Amino acid sequence: MDKVDSEGIEINRHADRIIGCIKGQQSGPTIVFFGGIHGNEPAGVSALHQVVQEWQNKEAFIKGTIYAISGNLWALERGERYHKQDLNRLWTTDRLKKLKNGTLETENKDIEQMADIYNTIWQIINTENGPFYFMDLHTTSSRTIPFLTVNDSLLNRKFVVQYPAPIILGLEEYLDGPLLSYINELGYVSFGFESGHHTQPESIDYHVAFIYLSLYFTGCINKDKVDIDRYYNILNSQTVESRDIFEIYYKHTIKKDDAFEMKAGFDNFQLVAKNQTIATSNGKTLRAKKKGRIFMPLYQNQGDDGFFAIRRIRSVYLHLSSVLRRIHFDRILHFLPGVRWASDTHDTLLVNRTIARFFTKKIFHLMGYRSRKLDKHHFIMKNREAASKTEAYKKAAWYNK
Ligand SMILES: [Zn+2]
Repeated sequence: MDKVDSEGIEINRHADRIIGCIKGQQSGPTIVFFGGIHGNEPAGVSALHQVVQEWQNKEAFIKGTIYAISGNLWALERGERYHKQDLNRLWTTDRLKKLKNGTLETENKDIEQMADIYNTIWQIINTENGPFYFMDLHTTSSRTIPFLTVNDSLLNRKFVVQYPAPIILGLEEYLDGPLLSYINELGYVSFGFESGHHTQPESIDYHVAFIYLSLYFTGCINKDKVDIDRYYNILNSQTVESRDIFEIYYKHTIKKDDAFEMKAGFDNFQLVAKNQTIATSNGKTLRAKKKGRIFMPLYQNQGDDGFFAIRRIRSVYLHLSSVLRRIHFDRILHFLPGVRWASDTHDTLLVNRTIARFFTKKIFHLMGYRSRKLDKHHFIMKNREAASKTEAYKKAAWYNK
């Protein structure tokens, strides 16, 4: 995707890690956008190039600092999703520990990219002023309206409800090692935006709209300098019928050597009936176990998340969970039979499923815990709220709405 810029010079859009860094002349937040973490998703990179160009030499009107960062450079150059491993599944505790103490082996290009992005992130955190916002731009292999994928912390929730787009909460429970989960666990507002299909030209426009709205919502730019209403309407016109908050309740994982094929024609968010044929796996028909909405059906040959199923979260549940989290109701959970703290910092619970079988995951979700299966009998529940750097955001306009 080489492009000739306004001066007629050939530039390689994928050559540099930092697409642009704009330092405003007024103080404010630091906003970090990632594009092309998946190499077959260049729309985010193109949108970031566009916005950086539009805002160069306008530093006087910017509060804070904007970073636009390119993801898997190796894969972007080749138009492939990744080399050997998905760069958006590498950010696991074990691997990060090794990266920190210098023992991580760079066995493929994706790990090389991860190490470099890791250094870039920490360079920014260590040298810039907060509050920090991290946003990751993606596209999907199915047709879709724009939507947000958000780790379920109260800070994230409060920030993302400003966007006119459906919100998918709690994807992190179903995925190992997405970049944004790592950053969210550091306590920062961080989430993903999926603008449309990989190759649909509008995907770039929706990314641009999202970037401008983000700059406005964070307080980095004012309304008098950009037509924010226009960008709002660009997204709003696409999403007006599905502006809910959803949770995932099912994921089909494609195992190594599985012959998986999605039935053609599913759109993201499409309603499916009970028993409707969804896909075939190793010659077997996979049908919907109940009525629901299909989410992120896979129509590309790389990646092992076949499809998900989602349902709307009721607002009473969202409200109740905010209250319970604010009063730290979770501090009494370890008195329940079969539940005990797994860490001294009291942010992780070990749940014995045999003893605590009456307490469904839903109760822990309410308190902000996300579960991981440890073994046949135990769940590890980690609290997303414990790390939140809430103080840093308290002066932001959105926080006080
Ligand atoms: Zn992606």
